Amino acid sequence: MAGSQRLRIDLEPDRMHLEPAWLTDGLEHLQQRHLTRPRRLVEPLGNGRSRIDGRDLIDFSTNDYLGLARDSRLADAAAGAPAGAGASPLVSGRSPQYCQLERDVAAFENTPAALLFPSGFAANLGTVAALVTRDDVIFSDRDNHASLIDGCRLSGARVQIYQRDRLDDLADQLAQAASAPRRLIVTDGLFSMDGLLAPLDALCDLADTHDAMVLVDEAHATGTLGASGRGTSELLDVEERVTLRIGTLSKAVGAAGGFAVGTTAFIDHLWHHARPQVFSTALPPATCAAASTGLRLITEAPQRRVHLAELADSFRAHLSRLGLPVPPGPGPIIPVLLSEASAAVDTSAALSKLGFFVPAIRPPTVPQGTARLRVSLSALHSQEDIDRLAEAISSVIPMEARARV
Ligand SMILES: *Cc1c(COP(=O)(O)O)cnc(C)c1O
Repeated sequence: MAGSQRLRIDLEPDRMHLEPAWLTDGLEHLQQRHLTRPRRLVEPLGNGRSRIDGRDLIDFSTNDYLGLARDSRLADAAAGAPAGAGASPLVSGRSPQYCQLERDVAAFENTPAALLFPSGFAANLGTVAALVTRDDVIFSDRDNHASLIDGCRLSGARVQIYQRDRLDDLADQLAQAASAPRRLIVTDGLFSMDGLLAPLDALCDLADTHDAMVLVDEAHATGTLGASGRGTSELLDVEERVTLRIGTLSKAVGAAGGFAVGTTAFIDHLWHHARPQVFSTALPPATCAAASTGLRLITEAPQRRVHLAELADSFRAHLSRLGLPVPPGPGPIIPVLLSEASAAVDTSAALSKLGFFVPAIRPPTVPQGTARLRVSLSALHSQEDIDRLAEAISSVIPMEARARV
């Protein structure tokens, strides 16, 4: 079916020295396991639709949860501002737009200080690695985002993986690490692959008991969750208890870049030690201007967030009525579990024929045997769009795949 795109593997003898066997064998291995990733051409059409490789589809794949990425007010804010910053923030890259965005992020997040990064990925990488050293211990949720995982590795600290439905084990692990100079718990706020929330209240309790820091990655929750859009920490009322919150300006905010927020001393420490922002060129002024506008619109137009939450509730209820189990949760990410990568790819292709783009999520993004469709809702979708999608999903999931969900 459509997902099993063939890779062009060039085995001309005179090129063999450039393309050794480990390379071509590895690509063929991916293909056999239905794990190759197509490079799509995507043209946004507005109204939650995209032209994807020439076909107009209702797009349930984006992280543009509030529909701000293509809002003309962000583009207008960026227009005329320099496209590049020309230097890293520590040298001469802090443009007026950059300083303004720093203040806007801190005000939006209601924290004393904020630090900007080139991306959310860089924010996680740099922040985790700056908080601990090789003598310390990190406690990392099994389902954390790749950028947190890489930050843990980069830090050189001992990394203990925990499962958030087994916090007694985490308590034991924390107790055993009592002699380490520092302990750090790192977690996504809203998990991007299953749409579930981290148990932040319980994690903060454990952190208090065992003198640990808590870092929460709010990438999918900034703008979408919480009364003011500050994410899971606001929703679960732990903003004053979490040590550092990481966010991205690339998802609901509609621009690009990442940030860390916390106390002035923590942010000062990151300013000097978080290497991705020390050694990368600062966010471009045009991007900063767009991001500031995105944050302002999130604050001024909470009805987008309310509409998104209503769509998410309604879609979950609809899938349940159709007999498809849905993980509980308040956010805009709704997975449909299918176990085998091939089933996920085939179902995604069948939905595409019906006019919907719903990506298949496969290993290594998720563990073996837990491939899935991932539906990302946007405030640009209508009630009718999501009702039609629920019916279509129900019609294309094969009976034997459904029995296993
Ligand atoms: C997307 C994402 C990031 C990275 O954010 P970017 O700004 O896109 O680099 C970090 N953490 C999580 C959980 C994400 O989903």
